[in-house]
Amino acid sequence: MLFNPEIELMSIEKLRQIQNERLQNTLRRVYENVPFYKNTFDQAGIQPADIKTVHDLHRLPFTKKEHLRDNYPFGLFTMPTSEVRRLHCSSGTTGKPIVVGYTQNDLNLFSEVVARSLAAAGCMPGMKLQNAYGYGLFTGGLGIHYGAEKLGMTVVPISGGGTEKQLMLLKDFQAEALTATPSYALTIAEELKRRGEDIRDYNLKVGILGAEPWSEALRKEVEQGLDFKASNIYGLSEIIGPGVSNEDVDEQGTGSYIWEDHFFPEIVDRYTGEPLPYGEPGVLVLTTLTKEAMPMIRYWTGDITTLTYEYSEKRTMIKMGPIIGRADDMMIIRGVNFFHTQVADLIPDFPELSANYQVKLTRPTNMDAVEVGIEINPDFFTKKGISCEHLDHHESFDKLVGRLQKKIRDNIGLGMAVKLYQLGDLPKSDGGKLNRIIDLRPQNG
Ligand code: ADP
Repeated sequence: MLFNPEIELMSIEKLRQIQNERLQNTLRRVYENVPFYKNTFDQAGIQPADIKTVHDLHRLPFTKKEHLRDNYPFGLFTMPTSEVRRLHCSSGTTGKPIVVGYTQNDLNLFSEVVARSLAAAGCMPGMKLQNAYGYGLFTGGLGIHYGAEKLGMTVVPISGGGTEKQLMLLKDFQAEALTATPSYALTIAEELKRRGEDIRDYNLKVGILGAEPWSEALRKEVEQGLDFKASNIYGLSEIIGPGVSNEDVDEQGTGSYIWEDHFFPEIVDRYTGEPLPYGEPGVLVLTTLTKEAMPMIRYWTGDITTLTYEYSEKRTMIKMGPIIGRADDMMIIRGVNFFHTQVADLIPDFPELSANYQVKLTRPTNMDAVEVGIEINPDFFTKKGISCEHLDHHESFDKLVGRLQKKIRDNIGLGMAVKLYQLGDLPKSDGGKLNRIIDLRPQNG
């Protein structure tokens, strides 16, 4: 369903015209009100009036996470906080968090793009949505909440975690939609199965999953486990929160529509910053076109993806592929660049495996070593009459490990140890994003 057909189907000429007008307003606004932008534009010898269209944007410098940290907490706001209606922080890992602010118009915009996203994912007015994204400083919970209300859904604001209660309310309220991180959706699906419950007692139809990278293997597993269609939602606090882009439920696997009338995307080379053509993987750079309190000009998301501009009949907007990883998360192992999502991409070829995996890094000698831990799919083996009691030193499992190692070597170009785990034995999400990398290497180099 299209939430806003007039916008989502406007002609590309009209879209460009709107983008260009909005961009000029935004550039003027930041130049006049934010010393950081005035300084960086002046240093680059560029005035807002020099940037006439979105195609001139590449002449401007990037804005990076460190600039948000340097201007902590409100240095990038275009207005006094008395005019700001809400503050959020990115979930952040270390040090000071990233602070973002919204005017009432920004909050309305946030709801609009989330409503569009939920509609694209198959949500409809009148459906109940159980929102298992965390509420609080994280943009996920409240962002989804207000967007779902705008669409006309009934929201169950349960937040992340408390899996038993999640299941109880899902069943009692018969919610048709669930928002969660994909890893937490898997936790819910596994708990349902572990209890021997029948999914037919539930009423789920759609899942809207995001906030972390996920794979087709994981999609298949949660779709089977929860008997719904799962679509990808992408976003980040610095730009607005969830709802920067979303997959259409009828076009799964072909990328997520970016709500381009508000967020202009570019893909650039992660080393040189030079713009890359459609289809080539690089860092996603986003410029907000309508945000008031804290616009972002050429924000370096650090997320690696592609832009695929295959014109779809469904919407005019551009699509982005799945996130391969964050540039910061790329590991260089014995000279080979490696993202953990590359392991996830191989799992669909192995029906013997489940979608949950973990990557452990060690340095036993002076070389880095990688061990991939993957949970098995016990159903596969029990159907064949093979006991899963002992995964070590058993012919079927030894052979599986051998085939996996070869697949990893052939596809990723690295030798890795593989360890099989029983289903449920690897760490799982307890409500939020799941960290799949365990880095045990000494930190001094
Ligand atoms: P933090 O950077 O602290 O995690 P956010 O909560 O704003 O803060 O998270 C935004 C980041 O989450 C994005 O930059 C991206 O790396 C990741 N992310 C969000 N949605 C997706 C998605 N659908 N697929 C992959 N990664 C995602």
